[in-house]
Amino acid sequence: MSDCLFCKIASGEIPADIVYQDAQLVAFRDINPQAPTHILVIPRQHIETLNDLSADDEHLAGQLVRRAGLIAQTLGHADAGYRTVFNCNVHGGQTVFHLHLHLLAGRPMTWPPG
Ligand code: 5GP
Ligand code: ZN
Repeated sequence: MSDCLFCKIASGEIPADIVYQDAQLVAFRDINPQAPTHILVIPRQHIETLNDLSADDEHLAGQLVRRAGLIAQTLGHADAGYRTVFNCNVHGGQTVFHLHLHLLAGRPMTWPPG
C-alpha cells in the first residue's frame, strides 16, 4: 500500500535498522524500544491486522512466527526467554496498520501486560 509506513520500510523508501530480510519478510529494530531488544517482524505483503490473515496466508504467518524465534536465538535470547506480541486494533494497542510481530527481549517481562 503506497501510504503505509511499514510498506515503505520494507521497500527501503524509509530507512530502518534491519536485522533480517528475505523475499517474504523484513525484521527491523523498533524506533521506540520497550526492551533492550525490540524488533518488529513484518511480511512484505501489506496485511493490515491479524483479522485480515486468510487461509492462503497461513504459510506466511508461520514463517513470520518462526523467524521471530530464530532472530531471538541468533541474538542470544533463547535460553533467558523473550516475548512475542501481535497487537490488533484499538483494544490491542495497534498503531501501525501493517501486520507486525513484536519481539521483546533482554529483560524480564511482566504479566499480565498493561
Ligand atoms: P503497534 O503499536 O502498532 O503494535 O506497534 C507499532 C510499532 O512501530 C511501535 O512499537 C512503534 O514504536 C514502531 N514504529 C513506529 N514508527 C516507526 C518507524 O518509523 N520506524 C521504526 N523502526 N519503528 C516505528
Ligand atoms: Zn503496509
